[in-house]
Amino acid sequence: MIEQRCIEKGLRMTEQRRVIARILSTAEDHPDAEELHKRAVKIDSNISLATVYRTVKLFEEAGIIERLDFRDGRSRYEEATDDHHDHLINVKSGEVIEFVSDEIERLQEEIARKHGFRLVDHRLELYAVPLDEKG
Ligand SMILES: [Zn+2]
Repeated sequence: MIEQRCIEKGLRMTEQRRVIARILSTAEDHPDAEELHKRAVKIDSNISLATVYRTVKLFEEAGIIERLDFRDGRSRYEEATDDHHDHLINVKSGEVIEFVSDEIERLQEEIARKHGFRLVDHRLELYAVPLDEKG
């Protein structure tokens, strides 16, 4: 829960921040600030887009959420979790699919090791079109 982690990190939790934290915690997609704002005003119509921007920046800087860039000019957000996953983006529809591949994970570690490194993190985005369409 984002709210709980904010408290643990010592962030002052206003009611508006709580609303945004809860939306992010329950989101099953990767909403951008405008989408978060749309959802937030349904709960509290006083929440401004500026507040959403400030709040996600705060959460991101605290390492509680991650900012994702799927090359469409929008920053998207999801809760930072221990269970890692990568993203496949349908460039036609914008749909985002989460996946985990043990093989890719292993290969990446191997590549890092071959170059004399120990892998500590990575991010992988696959940009794709459906097989039955020409891209
Ligand atoms: Zn994700």
